[in-house]
Amino acid sequence: MADLESFREETRRWLVANAPDLMSTPPGEDDLCWGGRKAQYPADVKRWLDVCAERGFTAPLWPTEYGGGGLSNAEAKVLSEEMRTLRLRPPLVGFGLAMIGPLLLQEGSAELKKAHLPRITRGEIRWCQGYSEPGSGSDLASLQTKAVRDGDVYVLNGQKVWTSYADRADWMFVLVRTDSEAPKHQGITFLLMDMESPGVSVQPIKLISGTSPFCETFLSDVRVPVGNVVGEVNKGWGVAKALLGHERTMIADVFKERDDKKRTLDLARKYLPSDDGRLGDAAIRERLTRLEADQACFDLTLQRSRESMKAGHKPGPETSIFKYYGTELNKRRRDLLMSIAGPESLGWEGPGFEDDEIKRTRDWLRSRGNSIEGGTSEIQLNIIAKRVLGLPD
Ligand SMILES: Cc1cc2nc3c(=O)[nH]c(=O)nc-3n(C[C@H](O)[C@H](O)[C@H](O)COP(=O)(O)OP(=O)(O)OC[C@H]3O[C@@H](n4cnc5c(N)ncnc54)[C@H](O)[C@@H]3O)c2cc1C
Repeated sequence: MADLESFREETRRWLVANAPDLMSTPPGEDDLCWGGRKAQYPADVKRWLDVCAERGFTAPLWPTEYGGGGLSNAEAKVLSEEMRTLRLRPPLVGFGLAMIGPLLLQEGSAELKKAHLPRITRGEIRWCQGYSEPGSGSDLASLQTKAVRDGDVYVLNGQKVWTSYADRADWMFVLVRTDSEAPKHQGITFLLMDMESPGVSVQPIKLISGTSPFCETFLSDVRVPVGNVVGEVNKGWGVAKALLGHERTMIADVFKERDDKKRTLDLARKYLPSDDGRLGDAAIRERLTRLEADQACFDLTLQRSRESMKAGHKPGPETSIFKYYGTELNKRRRDLLMSIAGPESLGWEGPGFEDDEIKRTRDWLRSRGNSIEGGTSEIQLNIIAKRVLGLPD
């Protein structure tokens, strides 16, 4: 215990001494550091990434040999508490840290771990996910992108769609069909592909929110070394599902903003004042109270699951519960924020609309996609019914 207290003191001193001032201001949508070869950041963002990577604080729980912090669960918790107290931004975010990194730690060969994990912790490589195809979303195992072996490489042909940030990513983890004769779940392989390989082309897709966070990705005779297979050839479905466990836990939590509770209450006080100090609309009062109670329960449950993962438990089908509940909760909050401000929520752009109002509208529109990405809410309910509750088909 004394050790943990001295770790806390030392960590706090280090954070205060090393965090640039900018890192304690709330980040805008494009201010978070996703790393990668194409990234360009303000000097302070880059400096914060570099000092944290050097210290192992971009991936506090990963082994030091891969650039992680090698911290115990208790130490990592102290670090995140101290970062929260100082209101510091995370030095690095992205699919490398949240999805492919944890998967490689579990399932990757020694070569793949050595090749990729240090580049993830240093923020050098940004990753994207090549799962969905035009004809394969919820029924992902029907995917048709083919990989045919030619000596030491696989030759890939096909199309992926809804590939988030493919235009900014350096590498993709991609599902391909390596055996067309086998039952659909048994002919799939999980590969790592450099986006700069000849034959990869990317086309951004514009969304209702006005942004273009994802793309179509076309693969034409792309050559990928056989050494880039994760797990076994034709057994990629199990690997894909393991990755989805990490993804769903991340999505459940990722859209929550750190001062959501305060923002919601501040907005309600601004738009619904009353003389007796209560919010001036009983229906909104009830929705807000229910939401915060549900959020508090959910946060505690998620924290419990995170602790158990840190202790080495693999994420299982119960991650579908987090994905389902977290994203539906996020939609409820965005709906409530829109209801509180009424017609003033319909800000989009132009004179009279402050940045905050535009952001509220965009966040509300963005939250619709939240319950689709990583598997829709209906699919999560199917998984919970079958795999968690054991209900019959
Ligand atoms: C913001 C966002 C980011 C994304 N990022 C990525 C990414 O980076 N990489 C990637 O590979 N994909 C990505 N996706 C794609 C996402 O995984 C798919 O959209 C999702 O799996 C649903 O597939 P679909 O769009 O083809 O819908 P469909 O599968 O066609 O589903 C249409 C509707 O039918 C329902 N439905 C389908 N089957 C069933 C069933 N068996 N039981 C009950 N209802 C069912 C669905 O719930 C849905 O309401 C992203 C999507 C979004 C919205």
